[in-house]
Amino acid sequence: MGVLRRHFAQWLSGPLGPGFEELIMSITLQVEVPQDGTIALSWEKDRRVRAHTLLVVRTGMVPAFNAWHLGGKTNRFVLQNLSRHQRYRVALIAANGEASAISPWFEVTPRLGVAPRCDGEAADIVECVSRIQNVTVMPQDQRMTVYWKRSAGFADKVVLDIFAGDRLLRQLDIEPEVSSISLDAQRGIDLENGTVHSVRLHTKFSGVLHNTTDKTFCITAAQGEERAANATMAGKNLVYPTLSVMPELCFFDDDEEDTLPTQPLSIVCGTCGSHVEWQNYQLVCRNCGAQFIPNGRGDFLDMSRLRFGTCSCCLPKKIIVQRLGSETLACAHSGKEHIRASGSAGYWLIEDLPFGLCQCCRPRRPLVKVDERICCSKSNERHTHEDGTWVLVPSDPVFDASAIDDLLDQGLAEICSTGVSRASAATNRRAS
Ligand SMILES: [Zn+2]
Ligand SMILES: [Zn+2]
Ligand SMILES: [Zn+2]
Repeated sequence: MGVLRRHFAQWLSGPLGPGFEELIMSITLQVEVPQDGTIALSWEKDRRVRAHTLLVVRTGMVPAFNAWHLGGKTNRFVLQNLSRHQRYRVALIAANGEASAISPWFEVTPRLGVAPRCDGEAADIVECVSRIQNVTVMPQDQRMTVYWKRSAGFADKVVLDIFAGDRLLRQLDIEPEVSSISLDAQRGIDLENGTVHSVRLHTKFSGVLHNTTDKTFCITAAQGEERAANATMAGKNLVYPTLSVMPELCFFDDDEEDTLPTQPLSIVCGTCGSHVEWQNYQLVCRNCGAQFIPNGRGDFLDMSRLRFGTCSCCLPKKIIVQRLGSETLACAHSGKEHIRASGSAGYWLIEDLPFGLCQCCRPRRPLVKVDERICCSKSNERHTHEDGTWVLVPSDPVFDASAIDDLLDQGLAEICSTGVSRASAATNRRAS
């Protein structure tokens, strides 16, 4: 059994002054392999610490990054059912809003007889923070949708800055699982047509913004005028609304024929036989008000007959489908999960969840309020709010990784930057 102890102190923030003693923080992290496949971590309690972040990197050709935010009183965590053929790096951050301390990285192979190694220096996490790439914007009528990809690495939030001209309109903190968001009046963001808007993204980790992107510019414009309005823009990184329900990846190609028709479609209402019109990104019957959406194969479906309704991510709206072999509902076009909102008929997108996602499960699940407590909707584990993030107060500080490996083995998951996400249809296609 390998046991290592290290002590490390780090000062952050501010000139020295009264209360200076309170700013000195340190961590003593102890790493053990009590049996094959298990890493047991423990550390000393410090009453000043309000939140811990446990960092775990699975090394190899494609490194995987996992971070758990734990309460200040938690002083141990066990990872079970890891592969004993993999090498992991672990480190711990302790923080109280004003100061933080970080342990060194420990290299651990969870196999009996292989001692964990420690490099003795405070872990450098900057190089492990995720980056935002491929920012693409779709301008619409008083609305923009922003799309991005995120590289493997740690991220607590993706931070999105929205500008009108040079003026910062809003800054949004978004869960790192989210890779696109629509911005419009419904989300409290007023985008005037004809104004040059721009967006810029960062990754937030451990309270610090990292890896700021360049700005992407566009001009919001009425339906049908989006392309012309943006003709003078740099031209790069813009896409336009599409009627098709083909997967979203296709429209990064910005296929000409995939965009909205400039001529009115000639469709006849299946209910009353009247002419169906194209207005405000919707196909609406002029006579009876029935609405239709295309199914991608040349047919148009009556929206009132759809089992799960239409998505709230795209405009034109797309069908919500149930993923094969699961309860999960997702937009057929963007792949975005639509979470059933308890107590109402509607759905939540991850970016609209009132409390965000949990710290206990992988993939992470929504946090919900139960009897004035914030709990994971799947595990019921309690979470508290510390320094702007939800931290897990584990009833039993054990994480079982076997579920993750099962998903990986079946090809049902892919490793994303904060853990494992279930593979989307698009991923399966990419892989084949
Ligand atoms: Zn009709
Ligand atoms: Zn959608
Ligand atoms: Zn959970």
